[in-house]
Amino acid sequence: MRWRQGRRSNNVEDRRGASGGQRRPRGGGVKLGGGAGILVLLIGMFFGVDLSGIMGTSTSSNVSQSQIAPGGSQIRNNDEATEFVKVMLAYNEDVWTKLFAQSNQQYRAPKLVIFDGGVTSACGYTSSAAGPFYCPGDYQVYIDLSFFRELQKMGAGGDFAQAYVLAHEVGHHVQNLLGVSMAVQKRQRSVSKIEANKLSVLTELQADCYAGVWAHHAHKDNQLLEPGDLEEGMNAAARIGDDALMRQAGATIRPEAFTHGSSEQRQQWLYRGLESGDPQQCDSFAS
Ligand SMILES: [Zn+2]
Repeated sequence: MRWRQGRRSNNVEDRRGASGGQRRPRGGGVKLGGGAGILVLLIGMFFGVDLSGIMGTSTSSNVSQSQIAPGGSQIRNNDEATEFVKVMLAYNEDVWTKLFAQSNQQYRAPKLVIFDGGVTSACGYTSSAAGPFYCPGDYQVYIDLSFFRELQKMGAGGDFAQAYVLAHEVGHHVQNLLGVSMAVQKRQRSVSKIEANKLSVLTELQADCYAGVWAHHAHKDNQLLEPGDLEEGMNAAARIGDDALMRQAGATIRPEAFTHGSSEQRQQWLYRGLESGDPQQCDSFAS
């Protein structure tokens, strides 16, 4: 990604070194999903106004699916990761401000908290092990930057994979602003565990789609993406699918226990947003 010249967001709060690491996790945040998985990368055919020509494999000959390496650069250290997060958050602010304005709504940008070890939010105490999350109660995104290394370890490295993770959490913020989060939580309290899981999956897939919408516009407006970036995003979506995580953990794959969606679903909805750039296309609940 070409991000270094980008504007830095002022909405980032650095809470590193302030961790209350001993408390028990209560959860309650909306998580990205963590763990590792092995899946053959499925390459979608990207097209549309501004996404053509970004696929890193388009000019190389005979590259099989399993040979595709992350094409983009890797964020190397914490300082660089902090800069990267500030720039990505700014791009999220720009895109969602624009899209909300297009439907005569005002976008209220979320704050992003960088923490290490663990953090207390309106959603209670959350350990870094849970991965990045969004807390609807305080409208804030929380991330321990070491998660980027975890992503790389699970085969989902690359700067656009990291950008997708952030945009997914901002997608939850968009859902919160639109009232989706509240409606889902209310419904989840009155249905069975299996039904509640299904609602969770639909919520997560919508956030994936919103992440795609973000990338579509961030690229259209700033020529942000480079060859290989889209593969990184699609690869990451596959690696953090529930089935991939269960397989990796050596567990039986139980779709009724999915909370974030299968690899295929996560790729489909990310792609849907990427290709269309239209938040209206992200109504996972209608399906
Ligand atoms: Zn999520």
